[in-house]
Amino acid sequence: MQMSPEDSARLRRLWDELPNEECDGCDACGEKCAGDIAMTHWEFEQARSFLALRGGPARPPETPARGAFGPPCRFRDDTAGRCHIYPVRPLICRLFGLVEWLPCPLGRWGVRVPDGIEIMRWYAELGPRTYEHWLSASVKNVHTEA
Ligand code: SF4
Ligand code: SF4
Repeated sequence: MQMSPEDSARLRRLWDELPNEECDGCDACGEKCAGDIAMTHWEFEQARSFLALRGGPARPPETPARGAFGPPCRFRDDTAGRCHIYPVRPLICRLFGLVEWLPCPLGRWGVRVPDGIEIMRWYAELGPRTYEHWLSASVKNVHTEA
């Protein structure tokens, strides 16, 4: 899905401006990196380019569930205790610890983004889908164009 120039600018601005300096090196909420994270097509392209340079993602296809949170996100590297695509992680991951419904479990942050609900409503209208969805759509496009 093509984003309008305004939406594209807003998403890039959010990526750049959401604070996360206190998360540096911390992995205390890593077990919540679970399930299939939705992202916009632009974010998918950032992740795909990053992975093309760096390799991965690390998660084997059939990774079992962990506790209450289900199977880990495909970008979760439990061995390193890190997000494999941290510099290009999608918006929902950037909001973790900053909005009231995704609080920092260590209490390092208060609510730093009070308009998080409005941001997520806007983001939902951009049509975020899973990485697998976008990957499969791009493979189909290649076959159609071939
Ligand atoms: S949100 Fe809190 S627990 Fe999660 S990485 Fe940041 S400081 Fe650590
Ligand atoms: S993309 Fe990274 S930060 Fe987001 S859920 Fe997956 S592992 Fe966690």
